[in-house]
Amino acid sequence: MTTPTLPLNSGHEIPQLGFGVFLVDPAEAQRIVEDALEVGYRHIDTAAIYKNEEGVGRAIAASGIPREELFITTKLWNDDQGTDTAHRAIDTSLTKLGLDYVDLYLIHWPTPKRDRYLESWLALEQIQASGKTRSIGVSNFQPDHLERIITGSDTVPAVNQIELHPAFQQRELRAVHAQHGIHTESWGPLGQGKYDLFGMDAIQSAADAHGVTPAQVVIRWHLQSGIIVFPKSNSRERMQQNFDVFGFELTPDEMGAIDALDAGKRVGGNPDEVN
Ligand code: NAD
Repeated sequence: MTTPTLPLNSGHEIPQLGFGVFLVDPAEAQRIVEDALEVGYRHIDTAAIYKNEEGVGRAIAASGIPREELFITTKLWNDDQGTDTAHRAIDTSLTKLGLDYVDLYLIHWPTPKRDRYLESWLALEQIQASGKTRSIGVSNFQPDHLERIITGSDTVPAVNQIELHPAFQQRELRAVHAQHGIHTESWGPLGQGKYDLFGMDAIQSAADAHGVTPAQVVIRWHLQSGIIVFPKSNSRERMQQNFDVFGFELTPDEMGAIDALDAGKRVGGNPDEVN
């Protein structure tokens, strides 16, 4: 089964469903990513700070899957923001991943107190021009951060990767993305297990109606909302479950009932504060 793709403003395509590796133990990363690739995922979301790029790279090499069939994202960590530091950071990530290029390179957090995200964005433009990444984007950017890099550079971010799940739907920020043609990527799409999303009536009743699990309903809600999503699981059974979401469709009423669950509650850090 092929995962649907969305067009990025760079002219490249991104698989709408992928596999995230936040908190995947570096010692286990190779095995877990090999499992994910065997299950069928072709889009992997990692980051320098996850410390598991080497395991991801070993799994890619062991899989034998042609490079052009994979979509690999990594991220510039906060301490490496700046020009020379960003150039060194992408080289380090590529070495660890064993790749010549990544598909998407993101600024992980704006860290506005450091005030280096515009400079870092200009470095990402150079990194893209050098061919070390196909597309560039950001993560955890608020509207004012987006505005500043869009007006201060020649490139609109291809994506903004933000905390997003039924209890925190980020509608205002998504409207800003839509104005600029930026795709929304959800992190913590299942609420990171910190909310009882799966016990909520709207989610549970849709799961019952379609004979699927609440996690599958939540992933389907992201996909039908036009969002790019990469749930994480160490368990192969859950990886399979999370990938098996193209055999049913939520009705407009079911989508509306999940839309109504927005409580404006973050599980993660506030991007204006994280440094
Ligand atoms: P997630 O919402 O994907 O939740 C993962 C948790 O859900 C795990 O504890 C897992 O055991 C559980 N789970 C997974 N599948 C399940 C299923 N079918 N049934 C029941 N429970 C299930 O959280 P996440 O991993 O934080 O987010 C996904 C990805 O987003 C990360 O792996 C990472 O790639 C990315 N991310 C990015 C940022 C950022 O700042 N840019 C922050 C956090 C995560």
